[in-house]
Amino acid sequence: MSEQRLEALQQYLTSLTPYNPAWHLTKDRQDGNSQQQQEEEQHDSFSGRLQLEYNSNRRVEVQRRLGALGDGGSAGCGSPVTLEVSSECGRYLVASRNITAGQELFRETPLVVTPRPTPDTACLACLHPLHPDWQGCEDCGAPLCWPHCPGKLHTKEECQSLAGLDLNLNTTSRLQELNEMLTPLRTLQVLEATPRLQGVVAAMQSNTGQRRRLGLGQAAAGRIAVALGEDTDVVSHILGSFDTNAFTVTYSESEGGGMGRALLPLAALMNHSCTPNTQHWFHSGVLIVRAVCDIPMGTEVTNSYTPTLWGTSARAVHLAASKLFRCNCPRCTDPTELGSHLSSLACRACCNGLLVPPVNPKAAWTCRRCGATVGRGAVEAMVRGAAGTVRRVGEEDVEGLGQAVAHFTRVLGHTHYVTREATHALLLASLNPPLAGHRRQHGCEALSHFDNYSL
Ligand SMILES: [Zn+2]
Ligand SMILES: [Zn+2]
Ligand SMILES: [Zn+2]
Ligand SMILES: [Zn+2]
Repeated sequence: MSEQRLEALQQYLTSLTPYNPAWHLTKDRQDGNSQQQQEEEQHDSFSGRLQLEYNSNRRVEVQRRLGALGDGGSAGCGSPVTLEVSSECGRYLVASRNITAGQELFRETPLVVTPRPTPDTACLACLHPLHPDWQGCEDCGAPLCWPHCPGKLHTKEECQSLAGLDLNLNTTSRLQELNEMLTPLRTLQVLEATPRLQGVVAAMQSNTGQRRRLGLGQAAAGRIAVALGEDTDVVSHILGSFDTNAFTVTYSESEGGGMGRALLPLAALMNHSCTPNTQHWFHSGVLIVRAVCDIPMGTEVTNSYTPTLWGTSARAVHLAASKLFRCNCPRCTDPTELGSHLSSLACRACCNGLLVPPVNPKAAWTCRRCGATVGRGAVEAMVRGAAGTVRRVGEEDVEGLGQAVAHFTRVLGHTHYVTREATHALLLASLNPPLAGHRRQHGCEALSHFDNYSL
């Protein structure tokens, strides 16, 4: 990452109205034509900056520039978080003073909000899920609420861009392609309207090299680049930035009840932890982050990229598939998950013991109390069976969820994460009126990841 990009992030962190003077200083300079200046101008373009990041010959220079920056930036007067940089951990946030549990750390308005890249039909203006016989925008044909909602995400510029394309949204694959395309389209339109954000977006981690090796998103990037007349590297970086950093934004029923992806450069600086010291939620589309425990000054500020209630195997699958990394934190490497036993199963031989996940994932599970063993296949079938049960129960079916919780407590045990998730779903379903701003989600969403996974 270049010095200019780091500065852009630091400025953003300071004010949340990012402005990078160096960016404009270089861009406006007209005098001279030395090779160094030509190189600077070349790297001043958005794609040029990307090439700098991915050009291995320039890495030494980037490291040198980072080294000259010292110990990172300042979050400005009064901010409880600050940006740090290290060669091992990259960029991350730390507490700039002692923070007490419950304290709000920051709020951030997303730079870009897009529909999720799925075949689901959502209103482009408010992200509200639409009925299959939805009506399209009169001008571009894209899905919108009817009658029109007050949502503002489908801008005039977006409508004009889409009107110039042959959307032809009569199949689910075309809908998915539209939803995928909206990620780079909306981001590029935000950058066009506010050029000072280019450094901030260019500085976001996108795992482009790894995604290219794995073939992730390459076909979509090529297709979208052609459709939008854009550089494929730029489109790939934006797609990778969203997959790597985006938060799922949820809107309350009064705001349309939709769901989408939000790009939040400041919040994205928090590294992952399976035992995070913050939690976050959205209120009226704005992310709020607060401490869940005391955070001493200088401590890294973390959040979880995956639901903390999920068991280690489900978290690992989700992190590997969506964030392309394997977590080796103390919770992930402890079969008991720090004594919570979220993945342990109740032993049906002795009733009081727990079958703890073996270190070797192919080995049988053994009860720590009576020594009884259960094969991996049987454990897998038990958890899959629970997943099927929960999927059949509606998220507002209090009676059905109550029965599921009672059943899972007997079969899986009261500590198992499927039981805990079902209990959480039952709690939410029981609240009347519902918890304000809290979106009800299906109790065992984690289990959808088991489709491609063996325990
Ligand atoms: Zn709408
Ligand atoms: Zn339109
Ligand atoms: Zn972990
Ligand atoms: Zn036992």
